[in-house]
Amino acid sequence: MPLNYIANAFVPSSSGRTIPVIDPSDGQPFEEIQRSNAQDIDTAVHAARQCLDGIWHKVSAADRSRLLMRLAEKIADHADELAAIEQRDCGKPTKQARADALALVRYFEFYAGACDKLHGETIPYQDGYSVFTWREPHGVTGHVIPWNYPMQIFGRSVGGALAAGNVCVVKPAEDACLSLLRVAELAAEAGFPAGAINIVTGYGHEVGDALARHPGIDHISFTGSPKIGTLIQQVAAERHCPVTLELGGKSPQIVFADADLDQAIPTVINAIVQNAGQTCSAGSRLLVEQSLYEPLLERLGAAFEKLRVGPAAMDLDVGPLIRASQQQRVWDFLSDAHAADIPVVAEGRVVDEAPETGFYQAPTLLRDVPVDHRLAQEEVFGPVLAAMSFRDEDHAVQLANATQFGLVAGVWTRDGARQFRMARRVRSGQVFINNYGAGGGVELPFGGVKSSGYGREKGFEALYGFTTLKTVAVKHG
Ligand code: NAD
Repeated sequence: MPLNYIANAFVPSSSGRTIPVIDPSDGQPFEEIQRSNAQDIDTAVHAARQCLDGIWHKVSAADRSRLLMRLAEKIADHADELAAIEQRDCGKPTKQARADALALVRYFEFYAGACDKLHGETIPYQDGYSVFTWREPHGVTGHVIPWNYPMQIFGRSVGGALAAGNVCVVKPAEDACLSLLRVAELAAEAGFPAGAINIVTGYGHEVGDALARHPGIDHISFTGSPKIGTLIQQVAAERHCPVTLELGGKSPQIVFADADLDQAIPTVINAIVQNAGQTCSAGSRLLVEQSLYEPLLERLGAAFEKLRVGPAAMDLDVGPLIRASQQQRVWDFLSDAHAADIPVVAEGRVVDEAPETGFYQAPTLLRDVPVDHRLAQEEVFGPVLAAMSFRDEDHAVQLANATQFGLVAGVWTRDGARQFRMARRVRSGQVFINNYGAGGGVELPFGGVKSSGYGREKGFEALYGFTTLKTVAVKHG
């Protein structure tokens, strides 16, 4: 049975309790993880602090880089094994699970290369002074991870934190812990000292809350829903603990009449069906210029009807949703759409081989979704695309910005001047022109505005968030 990973050893929770692990493809339990508590978090935070104060603060940036690179190599060697674990745990089709394992490799490679390039500045000041800045790690960082991309989000969050000289206590989502426990073990094999990476599993309201409240945590990196993001901020505010928040999105794909549809159509579809739509940056709203609306919906509808949904191991277009409550959430959105007479353009198909006990949902394309309907405002976190039309560029911008979110936007047009205007006017953390996601690039800073959160992860920018700046002024006359 998988145990917590603290100070380079597998240890049971002091609670003596466990949580069943369900395979989303058939809805059946196949494993149990620890249902940890505040005492386990305390043990992990102490292990991390001991590591930081003992060995870790003496490890040079170059040596941190070597450790991270060794871990990247270990993960690459075990990519198939990790992908298989994640596939069963999260219901990911094989291609997606493997892509996630390889992205994890890239995060550790990238941050390995970044360790010894993070430096402060000298500042010209008054005569008789020398002034400079140091970028120092926060210390013990807490990482609360969601279930949709456990390996990728662990990579970007923990990779950046370690590169900047922090040590980590990680709370994975209760639905998706198994791959990360194995990665922590690989980290020990790669040479990370005891306490550098600690993993404590359990429920958010128990162990996640205990992590956020622990006075020994110096920075919290949270990826998850806006609702829990608010709770984390409130808890952290009591002791003025800095927080990075990566929350949800309701990201628009904005298609102008001059777009290259052969490029746009497969990308628009992939952006909503990848990981069964359970992606924070899913392109879940489709905004189409009026003259293109009918022909584009016709082509998209035909493509949606070909999409196949089934067990993760069948490696079809779409796998199952993570759990029964997520499936119910998607059904609730669709029944609200039905009640509001929102037309369904097309649906994919769940294959006959899919067990009835699995958590399947056919991709669904809806049209004429009113801008104030919850389908145009709230995250479904399922393969549901809400289409609407716009009159002109101003109207497109107005619709694109008409939600509480601002994570990602896609703009499809051949008009170069419009590409720049749209990139400026859309409020989001990332804008993609004639592509969506740029292949996921670990080098590209990622994060949101408005209710999508603040702070940036990925890329070099993340390292600023995982450090604090100290200014040193020397008066030498
Ligand atoms: P969630 O907020 O319910 O859970 C996220 C994590 O927080 C889990 O580990 C959970 O156990 C923990 N948690 C729950 N309650 C907690 C509490 N009271 N205190 C501390 N931790 C607690 O979200 P989810 O359902 O796991 O993930 C889906 C959400 O995450 C979506 O809204 C999605 O958009 C968002 N997300 C955002 C990004 C991004 O980078 N912006 C990436 C992935 C997912």
